[in-house]
Amino acid sequence: MFGQLRFYFALFFARCTALVLKIIGRKGTSMPGSWAIILCPDFLERMPKPKTVLGITGTNGKTTVSNIIEDVLEDLGYSFVCNREGTNVHTGVASSLIAESHFWGKPKKDLAVFELDERSAPRILPYIKPDMLLVTNIFRDSYKRNAHTEFILDILNENIPDSTRLILNSDDLLCSLIKPQNKRVYFGIERQKNETAERKNIVMDISSCPECGGELTWEFIRYHHIGRVACNSCGFKSPRLDYIVENIDEERNEIIVRGGEKEHIYPLLNSSLINVYNSVSAIAFLRELGVPEEDIAKKMAALSINETRYNEAEAGEKKIILHLAKGQNPVACSRSFENVRNYPGTKSVILLLDDYFDAKSSVENIAWYYDTDFEFLNSGDIKQIVTAGARHWDVYVRLLMAGVPKERIVHTENERDAAKLLDTGSADTFFVLYDVYTIKLADEIKDEIIGKVSGRGNHEN
Ligand SMILES: [Zn+2]
Repeated sequence: MFGQLRFYFALFFARCTALVLKIIGRKGTSMPGSWAIILCPDFLERMPKPKTVLGITGTNGKTTVSNIIEDVLEDLGYSFVCNREGTNVHTGVASSLIAESHFWGKPKKDLAVFELDERSAPRILPYIKPDMLLVTNIFRDSYKRNAHTEFILDILNENIPDSTRLILNSDDLLCSLIKPQNKRVYFGIERQKNETAERKNIVMDISSCPECGGELTWEFIRYHHIGRVACNSCGFKSPRLDYIVENIDEERNEIIVRGGEKEHIYPLLNSSLINVYNSVSAIAFLRELGVPEEDIAKKMAALSINETRYNEAEAGEKKIILHLAKGQNPVACSRSFENVRNYPGTKSVILLLDDYFDAKSSVENIAWYYDTDFEFLNSGDIKQIVTAGARHWDVYVRLLMAGVPKERIVHTENERDAAKLLDTGSADTFFVLYDVYTIKLADEIKDEIIGKVSGRGNHEN
């Protein structure tokens, strides 16, 4: 009785907080949910939930995938609760439920779609008991959050309810083994041309058979532990695929996805493999929800991958590309370094890798540089690397260790000098790799480069 009274008081208080925030014009905060949970620690358990609750989690890509899914559902006229405007932790989920509920907490909508932080699983999953959960992938992340994949796998295995149907990445052996007794479907991408069994990354989080510890044979390794594998001793192998990208056609801007016996064409939102994974996982999720292929394809055609993560600009003959390279996340950084290396033509790169919050108080663990494949930047067509920020000396040393010739590296503490130090005559394309919280700085640097390129053009004319 007392517990339920406390719940209503917390709900009422949270509503007042939300009202005050609305009056003062603040949006998308998780404050109402925070207050509700402070006042009633089991608030999420007691709060009535919509009939169907769906979740999207994983180390990388969960925001992009959630956005695709929510955009498609919204365009198709589905009415649902989601936490897009708020945060993906327990207080954000609570805030969204509160905002979309009647006075005593009864949900206004029958469907909920939540992006969920994998680290927060213990505070969310046992209470909202998702009917369906998509896990995009499992990678090591920043040392502060999740330096070891087994740590994050334990959290998920302990907290995903037995009743939750799973949508998992078949090419990611860590992801595909989550909660083996639960109902599940798998998505993945067929082996691409040029993909071999050769290991090319420093970080590789699967070294032996997860069933028997025996030696593994890789059919191919895409990157890190992503690929297809079989055990030499016990017959264990990567699981079958329910939704597989059979072909990626960059010229026609489409992907062919086979589900069961049927093939269907979907738009290619962005040609990087990471974004193909994002697309196919969203397709699998929507198909499992019962959305027809035609509707998904039509609505996806109207979308594009969020531009804050990848943005191209042109200045005369030159290109400037802003590319997110999440600070402290060795996998995300290695992916962006490989994208730079694979980009056609000559390139120069500005690295702004310091984590914004760490740079401010100058506390930093630099071990992640040694998990990150700076070796990809040691390539003949990468003409200059400018590294800027509090940790410029450490990045400089790491680049030297990767074999990058000293004369190609320039480094400075002041990030504002990065564009000045860039030799705009050195290459055709300039990459600016930045951390999540330095998008504004990256944008300013882009404008400076454009100015510099145009200025140089005038002189030559
Ligand atoms: Zn085995």
